[in-house]
Amino acid sequence: MQFLITGGTGFIGRRLVHRLLNEGHQVVVLSRQPAKEVRLQLSTRVKPVSSLSAVNPSTYFDAVINLAGESILDKRWSQARKKVLLDSRIGVTSELVDLVERMENKPGCFISASAVGYYGFSQPGEHLDEFAEVGNDFAATLCDRWEQAARRVEALGVRTCIVRVGVVLHPSGGALQKMLPVFRLGIGGPIGNGQQVMSWIHMDDMLNALIFLVNHPETKGVFNAVAPEILTNKAFAKELGRAVRRPAIFTTPECVLSLMLGESAQLLTEGQAVIPKRLQDAGFTFAYLNARKALASLLSYLR
Ligand code: NDP
Repeated sequence: MQFLITGGTGFIGRRLVHRLLNEGHQVVVLSRQPAKEVRLQLSTRVKPVSSLSAVNPSTYFDAVINLAGESILDKRWSQARKKVLLDSRIGVTSELVDLVERMENKPGCFISASAVGYYGFSQPGEHLDEFAEVGNDFAATLCDRWEQAARRVEALGVRTCIVRVGVVLHPSGGALQKMLPVFRLGIGGPIGNGQQVMSWIHMDDMLNALIFLVNHPETKGVFNAVAPEILTNKAFAKELGRAVRRPAIFTTPECVLSLMLGESAQLLTEGQAVIPKRLQDAGFTFAYLNARKALASLLSYLR
């Protein structure tokens, strides 16, 4: 099959690209980096493009997968940063939809990332499936506008899946890579009161879910990509401490995170209890249903 991937050099994207190449597929990757760099990072078998205008509209893609976006937690959310976060997602997504519009043979499917931040923050005991309403903070507005930009492609008759991603776990990137050194030193623990739910997914399940959606033509609409287990931040910290054989009792006070991160600290101090109802209803099977098994597998990669 032939894939067009944006964000293919990122944390999720580069693992997806490797997986697809290993399965014998052809992959075109949009990247702002020089083509030589992209080939060096990913593979010489990848075809890098620096702009979507370089993609020939007569090329047929079995799947277009849209993962591009500036990193959410790397910098404080100033007004200028918020604009960068919005533009990097809505801009690329809109250009991608414009490209599909120009294509003679429309792609087999269009799969576009979003995040569980769509739902805002859940109340205790509330479980959010794909039908839950959009929240009203910045992250929710960002996801909503990003999804609306992607859903324009539905009007072109293209099967469209929006994937609301939880915290993706892998030891060589993302949140887990940041947490591991602290927990290994025995100074890790819950954030704030630890009662906020952390919706997470093992990287393997994340990639499997994307590939499942490509391979199941009956799927369309919104899918939550999170493990089925509902786990508080405190319980997750306990599991991570257990996995690295260290106590996990040192709480990071909310006020410290707010001072360090400003408004975006909310993403860590509050959470949403999201369930993957539509993926499971569609027949997707999670390899990692609980954090204990997921962390054991992820930490074994480091041995
Ligand atoms: P990364 O930050 O690791 O990678 C994102 C990629 O997007 C980069 O490789 C970059 O490619 C590309 N990119 C960034 N800005 C632009 C831009 N202005 N134009 C074109 N490309 C751009 O993200 P992840 O792999 O972690 O996540 C993929 C998507 O899933 C993101 O949109 C993210 O918000 C979302 N998500 C991720 C979660 C996670 O836990 N990882 C959780 C929830 C949602 P290059 O530099 O080569 O151009």
